[in-house]
Amino acid sequence: MYLKSLTLRGFKSFASATTLRLEPGITTVVGPNGSGKSNVVDALAWVMGEQGAKSLRGGKMDDVIFAGTSSRPALGRAEVSLTVDNHDGALPIDYTEVTIKRTMFRNGGSEYSLNGDTCRLLDIQELLSDSGIGREMHVIVGQGQLDTVLHAGPEERRGLIEEAAGILKHRKRKEKALRKLDAMQGNLDRVTDLTSELR
Ligand code: ATP
Repeated sequence: MYLKSLTLRGFKSFASATTLRLEPGITTVVGPNGSGKSNVVDALAWVMGEQGAKSLRGGKMDDVIFAGTSSRPALGRAEVSLTVDNHDGALPIDYTEVTIKRTMFRNGGSEYSLNGDTCRLLDIQELLSDSGIGREMHVIVGQGQLDTVLHAGPEERRGLIEEAAGILKHRKRKEKALRKLDAMQGNLDRVTDLTSELR
């Protein structure tokens, strides 16, 4: 599995559609200060489902949408597509090529798609969670983050190891199941109250 291409349109400084074609192995992005190198990395994190504006170096989520320049008006949406080569089946899906797309509109709301079909963020997170390219911080190590990793507390460190070991997905499922159980218990309590009142 390797990242094959990344297309940005309306994302941060990339107003026009821009495609980066990647090859297996190491890719280096070079350019002057402020030319958008980190924006490319932000786009990678964003398309994989990043939800934290701060992790994307912004104040609010719609800061990722092209804000306009003196010569070009602001845009109403940001789109990023990431195509992954999956010939080795590392992603648990029956496609040799997988394209994940995320769109965000200025009036709020994100849309996600997998190979052209609309999907939920959860579907993308689950697809990527065992692959090693999930959105968690040890996959994308930003400037200065190495220090954070080295100084992480035991809880945080456990989180990193859990994601690497593929446990995070099951932890999230367990939390969801516990929430459902909780709601069910509330319903049961109400039914018990009602039946005792009717007796
Ligand atoms: P350095 O080498 O200094 O780290 P860089 O190449 O990584 O720089 P980035 O941080 O990726 O540069 O890009 C910064 C540029 O992106 C700034 O010029 C900033 O104005 C622009 N930018 C960020 N968000 C937006 C946005 N929403 N709309 C338009 N431009 C934006």
